[in-house]
Amino acid sequence: MNCPYCSYHDSKVIDSREINDGIRRRRQCLKCGSRFTTYERLQPAGLFVIKKDERREEFNRDKLLTGIRKACEKRPLPSGTVDKIADDIEAELYHSGKLEIASTVIGDMVMERLKSLDHIAYIRFASVYREFTDITTLKQVVDTLVSGEPVSPVPGQLPLLSNDKLEELAKRGRRKDRAKAGKLNVK
Ligand SMILES: [Zn+2]
Repeated sequence: MNCPYCSYHDSKVIDSREINDGIRRRRQCLKCGSRFTTYERLQPAGLFVIKKDERREEFNRDKLLTGIRKACEKRPLPSGTVDKIADDIEAELYHSGKLEIASTVIGDMVMERLKSLDHIAYIRFASVYREFTDITTLKQVVDTLVSGEPVSPVPGQLPLLSNDKLEELAKRGRRKDRAKAGKLNVK
């Protein structure tokens, strides 16, 4: 894992501790000396994310973490906040018992948490996630912060997939997985 501050590729482990379902490692960048934390855990199998373009990929906690970390960069948040948000969301996703989750649902979960934590991080995340293309859309999101109203879908944003559609994609994906598993001779 690269240093989150300077992107250098190497670090040393200065502390390593077992936590509930994995190992937490405190690291120090060998270039800039910054300290950061990594978690190593067993990835429970079988949670898939359906993207806006209907592609389907396995849920990746690091990807989620990177998105939140970018939004929270240099914001005065207590250390561990970003990891906590990712942990919360991951736990909620797995506990939901679903096998597929629309990426928009995950995006909304992040937005919901950032909204109550830090408005700048919230706007940053929203600008990427909602793909702001003009100042009007940005203003709408800022307005919801001021008014305290829930964020409504912005014009031009793809609607969430219906349950039927999700089911259909899931079936298609499962068939593909089975085919793949057969070929690789796993499970
Ligand atoms: Zn560094």
